[in-house]
Amino acid sequence: DLQGTFTLHNGVEMPYFGLGVYLSEDGQEVINAVKWALEAGYRHIDTASVYNNEEGVGKGIRESGAQRKEVFLVSKVWNSDQGYDSTLKAFDDSLDLLQVDYLDLYLVHWPVNGKYKDTWRAFEKLYRDGRVRAIGVSNFLQHHLEDLLQSAEIVPMVNQMEFHPYLVQQDLIDFCNKNTIQYEAWSPLMQGHIFEMEEFKQLAEKYGKTIAQIVLRWDLQKGVVTIPKSSKKERIIANADIFDFELSDEDVKLLDGLDRGKRFGPDPDNFDF
Ligand code: NAD
Repeated sequence: DLQGTFTLHNGVEMPYFGLGVYLSEDGQEVINAVKWALEAGYRHIDTASVYNNEEGVGKGIRESGAQRKEVFLVSKVWNSDQGYDSTLKAFDDSLDLLQVDYLDLYLVHWPVNGKYKDTWRAFEKLYRDGRVRAIGVSNFLQHHLEDLLQSAEIVPMVNQMEFHPYLVQQDLIDFCNKNTIQYEAWSPLMQGHIFEMEEFKQLAEKYGKTIAQIVLRWDLQKGVVTIPKSSKKERIIANADIFDFELSDEDVKLLDGLDRGKRFGPDPDNFDF
């Protein structure tokens, strides 16, 4: 169901379905998106300091009437803040904007070379100090993870990656599973491009569901956390309506088979911000 969870390696329950708020504008747009999502039963919100909407996300949670502990709240340290002291400061700034006293999950947004190990030490401190319930990374390929794991005292609980039927990276998923790192999808709807692709329409018709619902259901059946973004009320509600059907194993494989290594976002080996 919408409030179902995957269990992270430290025992924390992470709701496997959440709302992404990248490009939801701070102020009324993001406040409404968060409120509508929580009213619809979502229990997981994914923001980041670079989205510049943490203040509105916090307001949306408070205005929804949901209790803090009912919401799995995720934010990310931005690249220019990486390093030990600057990460600790960035975390405080995020909590101030969100007006909360802990996060459920804090992520290293990108693997900034030469910095992410110091950033991770700060994450371990935040975790040990009880200021965040789980810590993880984002956009870490296998070689980044292998490098980090050499010095890490705490194995990341999550790796949030671009993931959709055109970019499956099954080897990376297998590596994460082997290392007890929960895989999570960003841009699960290809940033909206999925609706232009003819090949998904047939499956949607077969199950009597929308393209978004088919693909988001595939995420969960593959054991991948998913956080589709919308700031429209009807879409926020419809995207979560994926618990009354199941894709056959064949159709899961059919979607797996569409993989063509295509990114809509930046390549973690070649980003410049
Ligand atoms: P997405 O794949 O969730 O697609 C969002 C787009 O699809 C929006 O334009 C939206 O209007 C449209 N859409 C959503 N539901 C629809 C529907 N039912 N019908 C028609 N159109 C619909 O893209 P995203 O926002 O890039 O990714 C989701 C979330 O992942 C982000 O909001 C953010 O929280 C996170 N993210 C993280 C990273 C990272 O580096 N860690 C990068 C990108 C995104």
